[in-house]
Order: sequence, then C-alpha cells, then structure tokens
Amino acid sequence: MTTDQAHAIATLMGQLTQQIFQHYYSAELPSFTLANTSLQTRVGSGKATYCRKYQHSYSITYGLGMILDKRDAKLCSGWLTSREIADRGYFGGQISYLNLLSHTVCHEFAHILQFECDQPRMRRNNKVHNALFYRLLDEIYHHGYGDTVSETLADHARLYQLPMAFNNDQEFAGTNSQQYKRGNQVQFEHAGIGYQGLIKRCNKLTFTIAVPKGLGIQEWRVPHHAVSRPIN
Ligand SMILES: [Zn+2]
Repeated sequence: MTTDQAHAIATLMGQLTQQIFQHYYSAELPSFTLANTSLQTRVGSGKATYCRKYQHSYSITYGLGMILDKRDAKLCSGWLTSREIADRGYFGGQISYLNLLSHTVCHEFAHILQFECDQPRMRRNNKVHNALFYRLLDEIYHHGYGDTVSETLADHARLYQLPMAFNNDQEFAGTNSQQYKRGNQVQFEHAGIGYQGLIKRCNKLTFTIAVPKGLGIQEWRVPHHAVSRPIN
C-alpha cells in the first residue's frame, strides 16, 4: 500500500466518523446530547490513533502508521481493536482488515460518547476502556453503524482501488481453532515482542495461553489466528 492510499483510507475513516457524529448529533437520545459540540478529524503521520477533547470540540486522529500496521495479520493481533472484535464478537468475531478499520472508527467514536457521559469520572479514573465504554461501543453496533461503516469502506475501496485485505491475503476466521489443543506449546506476538506459552483453554474466538513470567504465570487471551507453532 502506498502512503497516498493509506491517506485516502484515513481520510475516509474521518468522514465516516463525521457521519456517525452527525447522526448522533441530530438524534434525541435520552442519556446525552452532542449539541454544542463539534468534531474535527485529521490524519496523523505516526501510528497514534486517538480522540481528544478541547473545551467543546472533539478531535479524532487516524494515524497512517496504524492503517499500514493493521494490514499485517501478525502485527494486528497486538492492537486492542483486534482483541475487541474477537472477544466481543463484533462482525461475528471475524478479523479482517476491513473489519479492523471499521471497528477503529466505532471505537474512536465511542470515546466521544464516553466523554459526554462520564466526564467527572474520567478525570478521577484513568481506566479509559471501562464498562461504560464497552456499553456505548455495543450500542453503536446495535444501531448498525458498524455495518454501515464497513459497507461504505468496502464500496470506496472498490471504487478507488484501495487495498482492503491483509498483506498476505489470508482468511483467518477459525482457521487455527482446530489445529491446536489444550497443552500445545505456541508462540504469538504482542506489541513487537514475541511470547511463548502453553494453551490452557480453547475459547470460541481466542486461546487462553499461560506464559511464564518471572517466577509466576501470566495469562493471555490471543485470537486464534495470531498463534503459531514455535520455531526451534
Ligand atoms: Zn480507545
């Protein structure tokens, strides 16, 4: 993918976020209102993708590095958005490049709703991805925005010939789930660091993997597609 293509995708993601914002803005939802707020979206040069609030205006940045990184099926398992799709079953739990990008739009928009609902608490409590956040994110999907975003992204990708599949173009959903069982030694990567451990449980969409850490054991939940056999 060229930088121009990544830029086009990031810009489109910004436009789609604006559309959801406008829908919520004009809807009379009982729990909160977006009236008196505004949204700007921008394309960042790095990986960072985030939502900020300055007084009454929101700013969401979609990083070019994020768009490029998420195309790598191995790297993408390190992103929170990838785990959210698997764990919460958005898009049927299917991790594809299109779904990852669509989910990123919904995820960032959920931060706006969270700011509006829970400002006093957010100042006290640093845990941003909390129960309220996921309730609002679920609601965004419940209203059908996830599908709308993914359909629009797919349409534009076809129209402007933007890549909308993983680099290695593999179809991941479920491919790994039958190949591994409890007790298998596997490896996976998170944030650029490789880990090895034993499969403790096979869940519907993830494996629970016990990884030795110091003298103890740390448990990880890793999407099926993101594990492989250790190369010794
Ligand atoms: Zn977030």
